[in-house]
Amino acid sequence: MAKELKNYINGKWVVAENSGYLDVENPSTGETLGKVPLSTEAEAGRAVAAAKAAFKGWRDTPVAERAEYMYKMLAIMKENEEELSRTLTSEMGKSIPDARAEMKRTFQNIEAACSAPMLQQGYKMLGCARNIDGEVINLPIGVFVAISPFNFPAMTPFWFIPFAIVTGNTFILKPSELVPMTADLSAHLIEKIGLPAGVFNLVHGDKVAGNSFIENPDVAGVSFVGKSATCVEIAAKCAAHKKRYQAMGSAKNHLVVMPDYVQMDELIRNMSTSCFGCAGQRCMASSAIVAVGDEMYEKVSTRFVEDAKNFITANPLDPKYANEPLLTGPVITAQAKDFIHKMIETGVKEGATLALDGRGIEVPGCEKGHFIGPTVFTDVKPGMEIHKTEIFGPVVVILKVDTLDEAIKIINEHQYSNACSIYTQNGYYARKFKLEVEPGMVGINVGIPAPVPFLPFGGSKYSMICDIKMQGQEAFRFYTHDRVVIERYWTED
Ligand code: NAD
Repeated sequence: MAKELKNYINGKWVVAENSGYLDVENPSTGETLGKVPLSTEAEAGRAVAAAKAAFKGWRDTPVAERAEYMYKMLAIMKENEEELSRTLTSEMGKSIPDARAEMKRTFQNIEAACSAPMLQQGYKMLGCARNIDGEVINLPIGVFVAISPFNFPAMTPFWFIPFAIVTGNTFILKPSELVPMTADLSAHLIEKIGLPAGVFNLVHGDKVAGNSFIENPDVAGVSFVGKSATCVEIAAKCAAHKKRYQAMGSAKNHLVVMPDYVQMDELIRNMSTSCFGCAGQRCMASSAIVAVGDEMYEKVSTRFVEDAKNFITANPLDPKYANEPLLTGPVITAQAKDFIHKMIETGVKEGATLALDGRGIEVPGCEKGHFIGPTVFTDVKPGMEIHKTEIFGPVVVILKVDTLDEAIKIINEHQYSNACSIYTQNGYYARKFKLEVEPGMVGINVGIPAPVPFLPFGGSKYSMICDIKMQGQEAFRFYTHDRVVIERYWTED
């Protein structure tokens, strides 16, 4: 019998008041890993009440003491790195090396939060006017909620947990209902560090729980990561319910290859690991290559397709592939696989050339898995559905342009604006690119320009429906109110 997950509220594991349970599926095998409760509004409300009650005591705990809990959190998570990696692979399907890399990023977020005694400092301006001083103090705000997506079951929750808590807020995580096992394990580890009851809470569920947090007047803010369409809904609701929010959305990240680039082996491998790792289900995955000039287009198209054939489509938990970096695991659900198949059919109907077709791939022993092998379209034109849509699978489109200006135009006219990269050794091209493209994260000779947690992370336009990023100093800004105090003392003489 699969384990029924519980919620963690006010320092206790509780059976969720729920409207039913969903099976948590291993996307490689179809095996049921557990059952996740769909928590009700009343259940979500109990978590908010607990977090609200814990706020005052936690807010008044000195920042260095709060940071000490982060060091304990880091230590216990690191001790359990391998179990966390395997848990997230079993429910999400990424390779074990990818899962370990995700855990490293998770740890770095906790490390960054340990800087709170430095980064939560305000500042003071003596003598703003005669006898008047001005002071900015960075105060915790109250109860924060994070609603996370399926594709990074460990890292996305930890974009928020340590920063929200270390700054003196109390916190509730609502993980994706598709991948709740990593959050369950993480919460069991966090329980062991002995935070006061109610400071950290875990509530499982779907959009019913997500929405009820947004509508709850005792929630001060919401951090959301998921599809752009969901971001728009969340942003509108947060505004209506007077909450601060972050909302990071979907992506179609372009890689531009300039004609001067000569290190073809490194180039092709760098691009293919960006495109096919995690079965194309990273928000920083590239899924569109733009080659500048006929010669580079021919070279890139031919060699990229050849390199894609080196990827093994397999169950990432098969011991044979435990350390295999070139592994394309399953996509998350049967519905996701159907959608990707439909997009491939659309590409063919639109007149693009299907240079490599990953449909119909069979993984022995994993007949119930949701596998699609690397798939590549060439002769793609901007505006085709396969170029406009975030396919979120191992499907890559290759486009040809004549100039860097045209490549920049394609990137800037795309609805999504998360990240993009250029491959060139020419400083002029690189500088022009970084100044003129609109996405929030830019790479130069880097296939996945994902900022480390000491730097801000976030896109722009329809990929980021808010104006404050995650990670780094931005995280400290989001989770604190910078109250400005203007003070005057009369002279006594
Ligand atoms: P999703 O939008 O379907 O769901 C994300 C979370 O929101 C889940 O926890 C879900 O239960 C909840 N949810 C869904 N609808 C809701 C609603 N109406 N109200 C409240 N909560 C709701 O996203 P997903 O499919 O899990 O994640 C994949 C998407 O996330 C992709 O588009 C990917 O690009 C994006 N993503 C973006 C970033 C980034 O940094 N920009 C990072 C990771 C993933």
